[in-house]
Amino acid sequence: MSTVTPVQKELTAVKGTHDILPGEVEVWQTVEAAAKRLFESYGYRELRAPILEHTELFEKGTGETTDIVTKEMYTFVDKGGRSITLRPEYTPSVARAIVEHRLDLLGAPMRYYYIGPMFRYDKPQKGRYRQFHQMDIEVFNEKDPAIDAEIIEMADALLRTLGVTETATLVNSVGCRACRPAYSQALRERAGRDRDRLCPDCQRKIATNPLRIFDCKVEACRGAARDFPKISEFLCEDCRVHFAGVRAALDLYGLRYKVDPNMVRGLDYYTKTTFEVVHLGAGQQNAVLGGGRYDDMMKDFGGPDICGIGFALGVERLIAMLTLKPEPRRFVYVVHLGDKAKVEAIRLARTLRKAGIETIVEFAGRGLKSQFSRANKLGAAWVVVIGDDEIGKGLFQLKDMAAGTQVECAPAEIQARIQNRK
Ligand code: AMP
Repeated sequence: MSTVTPVQKELTAVKGTHDILPGEVEVWQTVEAAAKRLFESYGYRELRAPILEHTELFEKGTGETTDIVTKEMYTFVDKGGRSITLRPEYTPSVARAIVEHRLDLLGAPMRYYYIGPMFRYDKPQKGRYRQFHQMDIEVFNEKDPAIDAEIIEMADALLRTLGVTETATLVNSVGCRACRPAYSQALRERAGRDRDRLCPDCQRKIATNPLRIFDCKVEACRGAARDFPKISEFLCEDCRVHFAGVRAALDLYGLRYKVDPNMVRGLDYYTKTTFEVVHLGAGQQNAVLGGGRYDDMMKDFGGPDICGIGFALGVERLIAMLTLKPEPRRFVYVVHLGDKAKVEAIRLARTLRKAGIETIVEFAGRGLKSQFSRANKLGAAWVVVIGDDEIGKGLFQLKDMAAGTQVECAPAEIQARIQNRK
């Protein structure tokens, strides 16, 4: 009979958040290590910004009429009366950090990456959580369309490194401040005529920001949006040339992609290139990563007039696509019985750990036999036995669990024997 009583609701994880437990966390560690290695091989450096930011940063950066800002932010007033937000995305934090520390004056490539939690108050469902994790990369001060293609190629390389194949890359250009107003006006007129097909939220967007109708998840609105005018017909010469350059550079990389004129992404700050990688057959939440260029953000923040581009990848969605099995850990389990054996076990563990060998010594008061079967169950690669006999002889038993061989050896030899067998 189970003695566990049901946990009180307030003592369970908050809705839309998850524990990542041992057993799953190894996959996260493998994915994070692969991403860091890859990003750094393209010249990116880690930039860690705080989880808390002033609410205004996102209102200004992400955009006041976006779904994220209007509906999804975790915002609270702190004890000092400031409005604080748990970051819903990372780009505004990086732009802020650059302006604050004048990183643009350092002369180093302005290429940054970060892996960490983001927060959005959205309806939780498979692939959509309230605390989720993103891998985020940002590049500043590089205008050439070759960099747009390079970050798309880097995203692709990451997915291939992790064995993900069933994906499609969608690219588009959303224009710039010169050409988008005319497009917004055309959208406004068209959406106005289709008002009855749209949900109340999208009806409001007709006046505030008609481009955001494309972000709506309601099927009727999606259907209406498919018939809307396409941004490609409105691009100015500069945006058209840039987009052609991105496509040519993607071709140079031999990357397969599709131009999707309805893919405008849910953020106001994008200019020119936007892109998404979707998982084929993953159901509704199928976007694994998305990004784009944002050439006006720094200037809007009162910083230097330098352009930016980046992407964010959803780690939960990526991990759900993986079949990756991390290598089993190879560790030593030290079985000990009696006070003297305990001292020897501690001493040996210190030596082995210093040599980088994972060593477990448990202090749960189990007998020799039960410690041994536990070592077996945990999957120890080696077991060292220290009991009264071993203390008396000054020789410990070392068992290689895979080979099934056991030798008696001096404590000082154990490290070398293990290392030779590694
Ligand atoms: P966005 O910042 O909205 O462009 O999203 C970039 C990526 O983050 C998406 O492609 C998803 O993989 C992931 N993502 C966004 N929102 C969520 C969420 N609520 N839960 C899980 N993953 C998310």
